[in-house]
Amino acid sequence: MHTGLHLLSVVLPYPVTGGSIGAEESRLDFDIPESGLDRDVVTEKLNALIGQDAAVTDRWITDAELEANPGLVKTMAVKPPMGSGKVRLVEIAGLDLQPCGGTHVRRTGEIGRLAVSAIEKKGKQNRRVRVVFA
Ligand SMILES: [Zn+2]
Repeated sequence: MHTGLHLLSVVLPYPVTGGSIGAEESRLDFDIPESGLDRDVVTEKLNALIGQDAAVTDRWITDAELEANPGLVKTMAVKPPMGSGKVRLVEIAGLDLQPCGGTHVRRTGEIGRLAVSAIEKKGKQNRRVRVVFA
């Protein structure tokens, strides 16, 4: 499920303002200027990425390397833990690359099918996207 949220942030390339992860349901809040997001369309795109069965790998870089590449920190709302001198980068082959300390599957196909259960309006620009196992 956690890896699935990485993919959700690929489907919806907007700033993430919050989120939570659970065994049954997870959610991410996005700063999206306009509505018109379609649940079925987002679900379809998400499962298409899962279906690519892309390899998930990680590697370590130094804090200095991360600071030199601020574009890497894009989403997940959680600032990567810095200060220890190195940061773990998680790459989903061809799809996503970002610092993350979470636990991931080895291939996106292991996630199984996901479904967007709701897209809620939270404030003027904020959209909360809820994801469950299909
Ligand atoms: Zn992660």
